[in-house]
Amino acid sequence: MNIHEYQAKAVLRGFGVPVPRGAPAFSVDQAVKAANELGGPVWVVKAQIHAGGRGKAGGVKVVKSIDDVKKESARILGSTLVTHQTGPHGKQVRRLYIEEGSAIDREFYLSMLIDRESSRVALVVSREGGMNIEEVAHKTPEKILTVSVDPVTGICPFHVRLVSHALGLDGELQKQMSVVLGGLYKAFTEKDMSLLEINPLVVTKDSKLICLDAKVGFDGNALYRHPDIVELRDLTEEDEKEIEASKYDLNYIALDGSIGCMVNGAGLAMATMDIIKLYGMAPANFLDVGGGATKEKVAAAFKIITSDPSVKGILVNIFGGIMKCDVIAEGVVAAVKEVGLKVPLVVRLEGTNVDLGKKIIAESKLNVVSADDLDDAAQKIVEAVKGGA
Ligand code: GDP
Ligand code: MN
Repeated sequence: MNIHEYQAKAVLRGFGVPVPRGAPAFSVDQAVKAANELGGPVWVVKAQIHAGGRGKAGGVKVVKSIDDVKKESARILGSTLVTHQTGPHGKQVRRLYIEEGSAIDREFYLSMLIDRESSRVALVVSREGGMNIEEVAHKTPEKILTVSVDPVTGICPFHVRLVSHALGLDGELQKQMSVVLGGLYKAFTEKDMSLLEINPLVVTKDSKLICLDAKVGFDGNALYRHPDIVELRDLTEEDEKEIEASKYDLNYIALDGSIGCMVNGAGLAMATMDIIKLYGMAPANFLDVGGGATKEKVAAAFKIITSDPSVKGILVNIFGGIMKCDVIAEGVVAAVKEVGLKVPLVVRLEGTNVDLGKKIIAESKLNVVSADDLDDAAQKIVEAVKGGA
């Protein structure tokens, strides 16, 4: 689960991490009020969306008057920002963050994430902070330092020295680095974060080390331990189809392709996605209906797939083990009766109660192409979609 920058900064502030003062705003009036309360003379108007790259897209503006706070807030609020992390459709800005401006001397990059290979938290830093870190990682990876933190010791003085040396900080700034690293690591582990990215971490002209941006993600499987974090969830930032799927406890992830897939079992779902790609098209989603799905759950899954306008064809691929083919067939038929079917549908059923499943589909008089195996099914749906296009 992701949260907004202003929420992330509030969480980090609670762990003693230095962040600028600021206040969220849901309207231009609130933005002006927040700016007056902060006092100036410099403010930053920041779009709050669950994606980075806002600066380059015009979603972060440093301003020097209340008039400009008003002007920039009016421009950004309600607009759609397209950044390299939002995808081509962009994201609509529904919230702003008004922050006191900082005079930047140097900008660094710092992040923490789970390194699954070492089962530790990896701490990543670079002198080349700011807006081009992806390019740095690609062209000059030697400018990025990765340090692995032992969970038994946590952040130690030698981590602080290592990172400070890499960033060219000493004396008083190294002491501040100790507070920053200690606080960030504590926040990361205690709140079960999966990613914490501070870009930029800056040294101000008056020699203060502060986090100017914060991007935080949490481990969804640990959220039950953090009701305070769950409260920060902003459903308008999440895919509607994924929210609907989570109500039915379906494992659903929206993707960019055009073939909707309904499959049981994560392994079969992956194989189905692979074979669709092999035949030249791309899946519109990952969907595992699970083993114990009911007819209602299957119908809900089918409706989620058909509600996606980018879906040009549907492939149902079921290997009935615990899942019975007749339950799938009944769910599909019920969903089609309710919402109709405007795209080609290929169904491949195999395993428990397969004959009964096929019979239900045949008797429903639905316009279904049946397939014998995975290969056959993938070829048929790709042909059907290409033929219709
Ligand atoms: P992102 O583009 O989505 O990562 O948004 P950031 O919060 O990182 O802001 C983008 C850039 O705006 C930063 O890299 C800074 O260079 C600049 N910026 C942000 N806050 C301030 C500030 O208080 N003062 C100044 N001078 N620049 C800022
Ligand atoms: Mn940033």
